[in-house]
Amino acid sequence: MKAFEKNIRRVEPYVPGEQPQHKVIKLNTNENPYPPAPGVKKVLEQMDADRLRLYPDPEASVLVEALAEHYGVGKGQVFVGVGSDDVLSMCFLTFFNSEKPVLFPDITYSFYKVWAELYRIPYECQKLDESFRIVREDYYKENGGVIFPNPNAPTGIYEGLEFVEDIIAHNQDVIVIVDEAYIDFAGKSALELLERYENLIVVQTFSKARSMAGMRIGYAIASPELIKHLNDVKYSFNSYTMNQTSLACGVEAVKDQAYFERTVKQIVDTRAWAVKQFEELGFTCLDSGANFVFVTHPAHDAGELFEELKKDGIYVRYWGSGRIRQYLRITIGTREEMEALFAFFRNKFID
Ligand SMILES: *Cc1c(COP(=O)(O)O)cnc(C)c1O
Repeated sequence: MKAFEKNIRRVEPYVPGEQPQHKVIKLNTNENPYPPAPGVKKVLEQMDADRLRLYPDPEASVLVEALAEHYGVGKGQVFVGVGSDDVLSMCFLTFFNSEKPVLFPDITYSFYKVWAELYRIPYECQKLDESFRIVREDYYKENGGVIFPNPNAPTGIYEGLEFVEDIIAHNQDVIVIVDEAYIDFAGKSALELLERYENLIVVQTFSKARSMAGMRIGYAIASPELIKHLNDVKYSFNSYTMNQTSLACGVEAVKDQAYFERTVKQIVDTRAWAVKQFEELGFTCLDSGANFVFVTHPAHDAGELFEELKKDGIYVRYWGSGRIRQYLRITIGTREEMEALFAFFRNKFID
């Protein structure tokens, strides 16, 4: 080992789903199968490249204002970042500075562990129960902060507001982050709890329901005090996180509520239909509030299905370890994409 190597930080990185460069049926990273709102395309077509000489607005005002208006909160209550990954990572850095462990589920978005390790934050995973549900009592103990997604990933299970509030209410001495990447496909958001809990941060993204994973926009909504702390950390190392194009496109996406509702409904409808198809084929599906389903089959090995699907040009997500070894996470695509998936299963299972 070279002398300088001993001072290099070593972390276990997050491993995202593959982004194959050839054409495949891509049901592996929970992207939206529909294009972004038409206004987004228009902005891109009318973009003036000359403006790129200038730095973007460090306060990201146009987007912050559009989101504040949309959700009926103050401008001082919105923080935007480069995808919710950026926002969540900034939250870890800003709010999780206790000696006590941060709590999150053992089966959840695997980035939480990566950030905790990167920032040297102690953490303790809480086991999901037999049916892959979060056990609320596990979050009653002393801790340095709490984070969980609702719906959870990769299970897709959504817990009602009463459940979410119970966890927040038991943790009023620390910051509780509810990661709502999939909330638009599920039910009520924890946003309405903000009035009562000044320790709550709700994080959402444009990547899933707003079809803009490639643009990288996420946001946090919380009390003005917490948002100020987030901004202080952001300005302490990079003022210009949001580029001009993202800001302009983000505003257009927020404005088109009708398009948003229509495409979300299409995905929710396709999900309901797909769940029936999976069940007819003998799969067990966890109850999903997301744009994906988490499925297992009693007679077919998940790892083998994953490999065979891939050979056929259909990409799904597979972890192949621990309690989820026999599960596949399958994004809800268009009806046609799902038809192709089910045709594959029917052919295979009949042989
Ligand atoms: C997709 C996802 C995110 C991150 O999304 P961004 O593309 O970074 O906005 C965060 N949390 C969960 C649970 C997700 O599934």
